[in-house]
Amino acid sequence: MVTDGNNTIRHVNPAFTHMTGYQLADVVGKNPRIFNSGRHDRAFYHEMWQAIKKTDHWQGEIWDRHRDGTIHARWLTVSVIRHPDGDIYCYVAQFSDITEKKQRDELILTQASYDQLTGLPNRNLFKDRLAQEIKKSHRSGLLLSLFLLDLDHFKEINDTLGHDAGDELLKEVASRIKSCVREIDTVARLGGDEFIVILPEINSKLRIEMVAQQIIQALSRPFQFNQNQVAHHISTSIGIAIYPEDGTDMESLMKYADQAMYAAKHQGRGRFCYFTPAMQQNANEKMILIRDLRCALVRNELHVYYQPILDLTHQRIVKAEALLRWKHPQLGMINPAIFIPLAEESGLILEIGEWVFDQVIAHIQQWRQQYGDTIQISVNKSPVQFKQHTKLVWFEKLMQLGLPGNCINVEITEGLLLKDTPDVKNCLLEFRNSGIEVSIDDFGTGFSSLSYLKAFDIDYLKIDRSFTSNLTTNSTDNALVEAIILLAHKLDIKTIAEGVETQKQQDLLIEFGCDYAQGYLYSAPMPAEEFERLCNQQREGHCIGKFDLTAKKNPDLSGSEIAPHS
Ligand code: C2E
Ligand code: CA
Ligand code: CA
Repeated sequence: MVTDGNNTIRHVNPAFTHMTGYQLADVVGKNPRIFNSGRHDRAFYHEMWQAIKKTDHWQGEIWDRHRDGTIHARWLTVSVIRHPDGDIYCYVAQFSDITEKKQRDELILTQASYDQLTGLPNRNLFKDRLAQEIKKSHRSGLLLSLFLLDLDHFKEINDTLGHDAGDELLKEVASRIKSCVREIDTVARLGGDEFIVILPEINSKLRIEMVAQQIIQALSRPFQFNQNQVAHHISTSIGIAIYPEDGTDMESLMKYADQAMYAAKHQGRGRFCYFTPAMQQNANEKMILIRDLRCALVRNELHVYYQPILDLTHQRIVKAEALLRWKHPQLGMINPAIFIPLAEESGLILEIGEWVFDQVIAHIQQWRQQYGDTIQISVNKSPVQFKQHTKLVWFEKLMQLGLPGNCINVEITEGLLLKDTPDVKNCLLEFRNSGIEVSIDDFGTGFSSLSYLKAFDIDYLKIDRSFTSNLTTNSTDNALVEAIILLAHKLDIKTIAEGVETQKQQDLLIEFGCDYAQGYLYSAPMPAEEFERLCNQQREGHCIGKFDLTAKKNPDLSGSEIAPHS
């Protein structure tokens, strides 16, 4: 487009007509003002003319109106052409349509700031907002609260109902959380099933609790997916950190909200928890323990204990479970329930797990050589250990010592089967091919999927202690335990009852047809030498401790795992 010294349109070319919809006849003699979209203010045009006057040139983005009324983004270059004496001869405007590019840029910006699934701000935008809100709170002196939310048992829904259902659930969760907060609050999704809420400008802590409670309630209402008429339940755990009481910068607030969230989960899920200094101390202690655990192996502080497993029909020790112990130089004996999760979190479980296995097979071989019989030892294998390719190694280690596969029984958790990844599948297949037996530990406490039991060729179910301890006359747990045993037997799976502490429990288990039992009634876990002594006494037919090892002694040992090897 060419305009004269008065900025009146003189010429346009066919490309102009194509882009703007105007013919030359429509615009000649007019001021380019007719293309104004209304999107720019006076200052914009003023600056543009200032530049043209000063440098004879301007270049930039401009929104113009098409003849059909639509608004387009253009990349515009204006150049001044002068007479030799310096007077303006004409202005030449060249432009191209960049509307599509602008739309693409905007989309990229949205993708960079918003979660595609839920439409909520993502981690990037959340961080920007939090930084701004912290500054505002600093100025206003009002409190700011950060909620970190994690859905309880989301993974199970995702695994069993599929990812589409999981996606739908997350969208619904996002909208339910938003319905509990104000316009000025930010709800963001950090990824997975983790959401975060910024509540700025808080006058009273009561409000914090109210909102937390509302969110928990909103998410406890059943969820329904499409055609599926079944209602699904989830719950959420919320960790709360407050600015400036708990922390004054973004990192510490996030860290503290996270610690509080774990505390909420730990306290039984479906609740909220404030950050407290005690939690910080806990976290510090945890770090120190992990540091110490790194050295525990080389310093010989770890020990494998054995807890006998009894064959209930013959009342004989036929197996044992290897249970790890940590004798800490300052803190004394540390319970595996405390340090195994730390070992899993830090990855140390890989090294420790291999060490346990090596100890166990060395003991089995030593006893086999000394006494001529083989006792099957159960080894706990954490889900973390299945991510690493150790599958062949265990079998190879057994072969090197000349031990049969079935001298090892690997205890895994129900959750592992649900994962159903190639790693898990291959590993379980290797176990089966090499004769290593597999037990499901703590059966009944997780998200049991019965169809997997058969698919994965499980050999034993270990009935969780929580069921065993409730075995009394006429409890519903009696029915549950009996049903588990029946079900297992129908699937050709043997049962081991855990945590048997009383004679009454044992009697009921025998009545229900349970195959094996383990618990304090017989013996607590004990060091290898003691366990060896106990087995020896059994071999000699002695009666030891609380139970009579000679009772119903079976002269034919071939049916039990302590059997002479040829
Ligand atoms: P688990 O596999 O369920 O082990 C059974 C736990 O119940 C053991 O606790 C045992 O001492 C305890 N127990 C046995 N009989 C009774 C009873 O009659 N009454 C009561 N109240 N408790 C009984 P422990 O040794 O503290 O082990 C805790 C958990 O640590 C184990 O639970 C297991 O999940 C994990 N763990 C232990 N050793 C290892 C290991 O070498 N590797 C891995 N990955 N995990 C291990
Ligand atoms: Ca176990
Ligand atoms: Ca168990």
